[in-house]
Amino acid sequence: MKQFDTLIIGGGIGGLMAAYRLKEKVPEMEICIVERGNMLQDRHCPAGKNRGCVHCKTCAITSGYAGAGAFSDGKFNLGTAYGGTLGEELGDDVAMHYISEVDRILTRHCDGDIVNVYKSNEELKRKCLQNNLLLLDMNVKHLGTDRNYSTMLNIIARLEQSGVTLLTGHDVERIEKKENGYALCCANGEVLRGKYVIIATGRSGANFLNSFCRQHNVKTTSNSVDIGVRVEMKDSIWRDFSEKIYEPKILYRTKTFEDRCRMFCFNQGGIVSAENNHGIITANGHSFADPQRKTENCNFAILSSIHFTEPFNQPTEYAEYISRLANIISNGNVLVQRFGDLIRGRRTNEHRLAQNTVRPTLKATAGDISLVLPHRLLTNIIETLYALDRVAPGCANDDTLLYGCESKYYSIRPVFMNEHFELIDNVFIIGDGSGICRGLSQSGAMGIYVADAIAK
Ligand SMILES: Cc1cc2nc3c(=O)[nH]c(=O)nc-3n(C[C@H](O)[C@H](O)[C@H](O)COP(=O)(O)OP(=O)(O)OC[C@H]3O[C@@H](n4cnc5c(N)ncnc54)[C@H](O)[C@@H]3O)c2cc1C
Repeated sequence: MKQFDTLIIGGGIGGLMAAYRLKEKVPEMEICIVERGNMLQDRHCPAGKNRGCVHCKTCAITSGYAGAGAFSDGKFNLGTAYGGTLGEELGDDVAMHYISEVDRILTRHCDGDIVNVYKSNEELKRKCLQNNLLLLDMNVKHLGTDRNYSTMLNIIARLEQSGVTLLTGHDVERIEKKENGYALCCANGEVLRGKYVIIATGRSGANFLNSFCRQHNVKTTSNSVDIGVRVEMKDSIWRDFSEKIYEPKILYRTKTFEDRCRMFCFNQGGIVSAENNHGIITANGHSFADPQRKTENCNFAILSSIHFTEPFNQPTEYAEYISRLANIISNGNVLVQRFGDLIRGRRTNEHRLAQNTVRPTLKATAGDISLVLPHRLLTNIIETLYALDRVAPGCANDDTLLYGCESKYYSIRPVFMNEHFELIDNVFIIGDGSGICRGLSQSGAMGIYVADAIAK
């Protein structure tokens, strides 16, 4: 049985940053990252251009070293306005300090200078406000998918050189309390021992976290869930914004239901992608920094937030149910519909899609999103698109494509013992899985923060 000082479950940005910081502060510490997926360079999705998702046991897109962000656009938000609520938990100044630490580590390991840095813009903020829209902007560093990948490879190599043990194919099923620490029991039969445990399992580790909380009597609270679509259109429609702030993130309160809808995860010149979450195929998007790999389109998500109240407390299941419905009518794929067809109450078919001026960048199944999304969510999305059209005319064109579904689950949020995000003695939680973070910078920052608490 192997014995370590600190065991980190999950090799996403949170886990990597925690290990990095622990080695900076306590070089002699024996650290092991326990990851269910593969090494970053061995993560290959078998789905090809003409072949949909083949439902791998461990999804190469969301699992493995560098985590869910491995093939992401690599947008690092250098602020607390969005990407999680770390600012509310720690206070803005402390959270910003740790976000700057993430930036420092990234900059050190990035090949070449990060040139794509975007600042906030007052003129665009005003234009949005005048149209009932709230633009959330802050400084953003955009690495691009390719450079984000090489930066992560460099960080992982540095951890290896500094003596961190990096395990792959180790799916942790249980954490058991032992004398002087904990035992991690993995699905492959291996058991690892350590004094401290950091749970950095991200969104894909939701089931693991659920059972951990049940087993160790950690209370959980129900969070909201965001459900909606990925929207694709010609890149020129948002260029006014993307050239100035790179990523417009906009909030809108819908007229009919007064629900909060958000436009986020904008990808200039990007592609729409499919993501496998435990066999449920959902839409997402990314873009490459390399100009050769840019498309003529841009894409972003429009998501409507739902916060369930008593007696219902299974928001994740609700979102999964809706996404599954989209998979059922699209034969296990993502659905795509032209906005013009949606408004006219008809499905999109291959013929109409072939004539569309916006060429789809994902091979999705042409169909009818109104057969999937409940009335309230669909109304919210349509109203938001029309509202966005006022600041980016053309947004609500007939040929705009909607891919369904996209959802973000933040349902379970464990109750922490203290300000160090400790769940039970010497077991900490960081990143997206904590219900606090929703992005790379804050997940990494939380990893460094908890590492500092352990190092002390
Ligand atoms: C397509 C895509 C694009 C994105 N783009 C951006 C972006 O540009 N900017 C941004 O800020 N954010 C982006 N995000 C969000 C960002 O990737 C996440 O916020 C971030 O990865 C969270 O980091 P994490 O370390 O908490 O978890 P993750 O990155 O999800 O890593 C968790 C790791 O834990 C492993 N794991 C889970 N359970 C177990 C278990 N039981 N045993 C062993 N291992 C386990 C998983 O395999 C995974 O590798 C994107 C996400 C996606 C999916």
